[in-house]
Amino acid sequence: ASYKRIAETEPKIKAFITLDEERARTGAADLDNKLKDGSERGLLFALPAGVKDNIVTEGLLTTCGSQFLSNYNPIYDATVVSKLKTAGSVTVGKLNMDEFAMGGSNENSSYYPVRNPWNTEYVPGGSSGGSAASVAAGQVYFALGSDTGGSIRQPAAYCGIVGLKPTYGLVSRFGLVAFASSLDQIGPLTKNVEDSAYVLQAIAGYDAMDSTSANVDIPDYVSALSGDVKGLRIGVPKEYMGEGIDPKVKEAVLAALKVYESLGATWEEVSMPHTEYAIATYYLLASSEASSNLARFDGVRYGVRADNPDNLLDLYRKSRSQGFGPEVKRRIMLGTYALSSGYYDAYYLKAQKVRTLIKRDFDEAFKKYDVLIGPTAPTTAFKIGEQVGDPLTMYMNDICTVPVSLAGVPAMSIPCGFADGLPVGLQIIGKAFDERTMLRAAYAFE
Ligand code: GLN
Repeated sequence: ASYKRIAETEPKIKAFITLDEERARTGAADLDNKLKDGSERGLLFALPAGVKDNIVTEGLLTTCGSQFLSNYNPIYDATVVSKLKTAGSVTVGKLNMDEFAMGGSNENSSYYPVRNPWNTEYVPGGSSGGSAASVAAGQVYFALGSDTGGSIRQPAAYCGIVGLKPTYGLVSRFGLVAFASSLDQIGPLTKNVEDSAYVLQAIAGYDAMDSTSANVDIPDYVSALSGDVKGLRIGVPKEYMGEGIDPKVKEAVLAALKVYESLGATWEEVSMPHTEYAIATYYLLASSEASSNLARFDGVRYGVRADNPDNLLDLYRKSRSQGFGPEVKRRIMLGTYALSSGYYDAYYLKAQKVRTLIKRDFDEAFKKYDVLIGPTAPTTAFKIGEQVGDPLTMYMNDICTVPVSLAGVPAMSIPCGFADGLPVGLQIIGKAFDERTMLRAAYAFE
């Protein structure tokens, strides 16, 4: 069924980089055998899934949306991929993305841009745009994405689906090609909140293979979906509702808050005073970490090697010049500069300090509120081509999502209506490791 739907819709959506029907059929046949021998079915039994192309899959091409890795066939599965298998899900293919997860529109994919299923002239968001579009178009039952500064939540918002970024450390990053290791998290993109809880249940948990994995007990997420939010205290960060936020998006968020009121929750404005520094802080830190992480792509160990180098240095230079696209190069240069001696204190170290202040905004707010609610993005999806030439405008779209990433707390985007025919996303932010309360709030609204 999944492949049938893909055949119908994929020419217009372009959500996948790699499809392998044969492999999916083998996976499905294995499930048939499991049924016959009566072994345990697993939490996601027989559900077709798509996996973002920066999550490694054994023997299945993993390109990260980059020409550099156009020939990279991993020799192991990411922990989340093994967990999906154990849960009985079948991976149908690898989903398109901005190159190395750098971007918010999918236009930085070095293959082709994904298109928004609601209107194919519009971007699906990014960097997990393939994941969001595929779920929205009904090609897969759910997808995995990664979120460094909003890459699960923002495409979920633009495509009218549910996207969840777990607390940093809750889901193993082993086998996720690193962009900014202190921020990266894998999470589910689904059609509804209940599915999100099930997929999170299947992929969360301590993993000794990831040194930043949190050794915490994993609660039951599905049982948190009670529908009851009576007495829930909601904070609405006023900085997420101010200048630069489209009035129609604001209106949809305010209407959602009215729904919460009618369900017995209370809300009030709260100030997160360091929000104005979040974009600068995020782009310095994420680019610094990226410049270090992407040093491994040298034309020797992974991916494509340039032809006819003069010497070893020239091999590195040529392979990297040919393999990386313009946005990746921009960030490597920015990050290298911020980390270089003489500038480190002024940029990288300063950004680390501001990150702490941003995190404290959240600590303060969560003393008073159970969840924070606001828009996921300042606008709905924009037209393909509209912002590509203007990286700064593109970066500003991340204003509501990057503070959350810097603080390491969980957040999800759920649909909350439409503006001009395109979906609006409501962002619900939870306390660290309190995904249950966040999911409860999301489910009650849905
Ligand atoms: N849009 C942000 C960026 O370009 C977020 C990317 C992400 O979360 N992977 O960095």
